[in-house]
Amino acid sequence: MRPSPISATVDFEADGVQHGFLKLPVSHDESAWGAVMIPVTVVKNGEGPTALLTGGNHGDEYEGITALLKLARRLKAEEVQGRVIIVPMMNQPAAQAGRRTSPMDRGNLNRSFPGDPDGGPTKQIADYFTRYLVPMCDYALDLHSGGRTLDILPFAAAHRLEDLDLERKSLEGAMAFGAGTAIMMYELDAAALYDTVVEQQGKVLVTTELGGGGTSTPASIEISERGVHNFLVFTGIVAGDLQRPARQQYVEMPDASCYVQSEHTGLLEMTCALGGLVRQGEVVARIWDITRTGAEPVEYRAGRDGLVLARRFPARVEMGDTLIVIGEVVETLER
Ligand SMILES: [Zn+2]
Repeated sequence: MRPSPISATVDFEADGVQHGFLKLPVSHDESAWGAVMIPVTVVKNGEGPTALLTGGNHGDEYEGITALLKLARRLKAEEVQGRVIIVPMMNQPAAQAGRRTSPMDRGNLNRSFPGDPDGGPTKQIADYFTRYLVPMCDYALDLHSGGRTLDILPFAAAHRLEDLDLERKSLEGAMAFGAGTAIMMYELDAAALYDTVVEQQGKVLVTTELGGGGTSTPASIEISERGVHNFLVFTGIVAGDLQRPARQQYVEMPDASCYVQSEHTGLLEMTCALGGLVRQGEVVARIWDITRTGAEPVEYRAGRDGLVLARRFPARVEMGDTLIVIGEVVETLER
């Protein structure tokens, strides 16, 4: 495989704070010898582990982007033992456009791994992470949220792994993040995720969902910033104490029955609240036909008992949209 076309303007081995770019050459009508400029910050001080902190894997997920822009501006080299690499807008063209996917090639970065140096811009970005940045790190934190189409109860998550030691460390990291909810997450399709590439390289991966709706709130930013701080304390790179939430619940998603997906098109009426508890068989949503009056709505019922972890955000729904995600509360820890 040929080397990545991406080059970094920062020196990953140099001590101190550097703000620069990952430059991806793109030749187009407005700039014959142009480049996509992906901002990167490196904060390094002596020997120690490396944490790779990423946001904007999807361009409309602003909680992580905002928290990492704030961290990149304030983190000082003397606060660090080891190295912190911060990429707040992984899929920079998507973030610039305020969209989940890239306007350059319609690429969904988190469905493009391990990537391809000869692919479009999105696959080239994925390849650079797979072959250059992930191998540099010991710990990776990828900050997601619901974006424009979902609202998600803030949580940090790990995945079931064949390497049980790595699974345990990842879950410890998710608990340390302290979002209030930590999850052993079931992914609908894990094959081309960033997470899978990181885990296959034996690195500790914590992923998160920190709100949604294509915006942020004071509460979601507070959780995001606290979580990033806690993650760096967990890695040992930053000294200090974990800032624990008053209450933290551990939730499992055993299988695909956690996802309630629409088989109709129409207007969504939610009958359960995000963060609320539902019982199996309970009506959790109705879909109304808005082409006529007098029609019965279609009822959607919970496939299992549990906690409402996520909901569709826009009221207009199409067939196949995820309406609700339900997780099973295993344990609640009070501080
Ligand atoms: Zn995302």
